[in-house]
Amino acid sequence: MPDDLVLRLDRPTAENLYVVLYEHGEHLAAGAPITPLGPSESARLGRLIADLGHALGRRCSPSCDHARGEDID
Ligand SMILES: [Zn+2]
Repeated sequence: MPDDLVLRLDRPTAENLYVVLYEHGEHLAAGAPITPLGPSESARLGRLIADLGHALGRRCSPSCDHARGEDID
């Protein structure tokens, strides 16, 4: 399908993403606390957000030239 996005995640990034999404859901549903991210988790998820943004055509910074397709910011 031409409009699908495919991102490959290494296991540590996938684990971090799972925990963040799970804790966010529990936080919204029942007010559960969200564990602060450590430096490595923050860096991995920062790279994931940039990669996902680029795949969606978003810029990661004002000077970004990595984005595929049109910028939709
Ligand atoms: Zn970029």
